Amino acid sequence: MCAAVRLLAVLMFVTAGSAVAQEKHLIDRTRPGSLNPEPLPPLQNPDAPSTPAKELFARKSTPFPGPPRSIGGDFDGCLAGAVPLPVTGPAWQVMRPSRNRNWGNPQLVRFVERFAKDAKKAGWNGLLIGDMSQPRGGPMLSDHTSHQIGLDVDIWFTPMPDHVQSREEREFGSASDVVAPDLRDVDPKVWTHSHTELLRAAAQDPAVIRILVNAAIKKALCREAGADRAWLFKVRPWYGHAEHFHVQIACPADSGECKPPLPPLPSDGCGHELEFWFRESTLHGPPSKPKPALTLAGLPPACKQIVKAP
Ligand SMILES: [Zn+2]
Repeated sequence: MCAAVRLLAVLMFVTAGSAVAQEKHLIDRTRPGSLNPEPLPPLQNPDAPSTPAKELFARKSTPFPGPPRSIGGDFDGCLAGAVPLPVTGPAWQVMRPSRNRNWGNPQLVRFVERFAKDAKKAGWNGLLIGDMSQPRGGPMLSDHTSHQIGLDVDIWFTPMPDHVQSREEREFGSASDVVAPDLRDVDPKVWTHSHTELLRAAAQDPAVIRILVNAAIKKALCREAGADRAWLFKVRPWYGHAEHFHVQIACPADSGECKPPLPPLPSDGCGHELEFWFRESTLHGPPSKPKPALTLAGLPPACKQIVKAP
């Protein structure tokens, strides 16, 4: 695809989401969990074609057995053969475990294991892991619209504490917001050089294809990257993402049904590409109009079998 067409496609994607505006606290992926999560009530009519797919996927607490398959795209797909990330690892801890979203393609779990080590080398104590995917992927009940095929992970900008956290700490602990209140830069009281090094280490992992951060963070990275800037193209500005960053890895070679996203533009994204994000209309635009919920008809046919299996 030529660069102009790709830029147009990226801008169309941006426009589709722009109604979300920069109300970063409205799209908080780190809101509290629960110590006693209530099981969801059974659906009255689960086979109705109008049933939102998120209602079906949210009711599956176990993975679909068999070989790992990431099927479809990040915004319209599902996952078979998922594996869980252990809630406590040598250098990571899963947050909000009540959500049961610490599932992924085995390649994603391998990435977290590898990145936790690299982050330590970059001076970061350990990772606090937010949402990955549901046991069978698919859309989620919250407004989290991506993360559907087990290749995405949200990682908090708060370093891991030195102790193994209790269930209470994991469900209710709060994430640090590293963006200044005016949304135009990082907050110097919270942002540190280790944050830059953490993002550099993530972007340098060969499996990583894209990292989403708040535009204010991208601006800081552009300023602080120094001479080694080859990794910056993977880190892209997006709405929200002030308390966590979103890492996406490539479609695994053995997932033939996986739909890769458009690759980021090859530029470092530091020049005039950033201007859009700091316009008043982007920072304080109108609230988003809710989109109609995805049904199974909007997902690859294999996802129906995956979510309907016991
Ligand atoms: Zn995410």
